[in-house]
Amino acid sequence: MPELPEVETVRRGLERHVVGRRIRRVEIGRERTVRRTSPEAVIHGLTGTVIEAANRRGKYLLLPLDSGDELMIHLRMSGQVLVAEEGAPRPPHTHVVAHLDAGVDGGRHELWFVDPRTFGEVVVFDPERAAEQVPDVHALGLDPIVDDLSLRALRGILRTRARLLKPLLLDQHVIAGIGNIYADEILHAARLRPDRISNDLSLTSERRLHGAIHDVLRAAIDAGGSTLVDAQYVDLFGDGGSYQDEHRVYGRAGERCSTCGVGWIRRMVSAQRSTHFCPRCQR
Ligand SMILES: [Zn+2]
Repeated sequence: MPELPEVETVRRGLERHVVGRRIRRVEIGRERTVRRTSPEAVIHGLTGTVIEAANRRGKYLLLPLDSGDELMIHLRMSGQVLVAEEGAPRPPHTHVVAHLDAGVDGGRHELWFVDPRTFGEVVVFDPERAAEQVPDVHALGLDPIVDDLSLRALRGILRTRARLLKPLLLDQHVIAGIGNIYADEILHAARLRPDRISNDLSLTSERRLHGAIHDVLRAAIDAGGSTLVDAQYVDLFGDGGSYQDEHRVYGRAGERCSTCGVGWIRRMVSAQRSTHFCPRCQR
């Protein structure tokens, strides 16, 4: 599932190639993608509007429109947002197509939402009624990048809860954007076991965790995110990221730890999610 670095990579592509352009026409092929409202609501909400900005909160893309509404796109398991020349052959599972006005280069393009597993969503909502229209977006916790999560804020989160670190990092209501891959990589970089209790960390450990959240997410964004073997995550032009080559623990169970060179990466199931860690360097 795309996490913060992957969604941020898509956001940057949208900012560069789609912001400022008008949506001329919208086609919707699969109603499940627009299940929160209706095909008519999404077509009506988008047609004729200009995309004014490309924002992100956690794993959600949020695109303000000149109508005052906002376009929300959530990739979930397998969603892809792609830009192509108008009339280009569409891949299977292209559920939403927005025809864009000519860009600065004069070319006409289409914005596609492709989603084989159809868990993803496209919603047009009124930001003033976000609490009722997109309660999941409204309830998101701090975004480490957008909100520049401070050491002080993280300490507050850790100390006021007595939760295992891994599920705490995955809780989108607390910190938004971290999923299974980056939670494992962050805890490894912080040298903390995933089953440590949040309010039982030393000052040094809290500081290491804070540094690791920023370092891992920034490095992953710089690498264009992680594209795993299923290759479902790609950027706006269909290219994968390369951060999977930097993974130290995720998907590496049974391999020797490349950080300490001594431990063997273990996999355990915690809160129904597979968790990877090095018992030697994570304590
Ligand atoms: Zn190790």
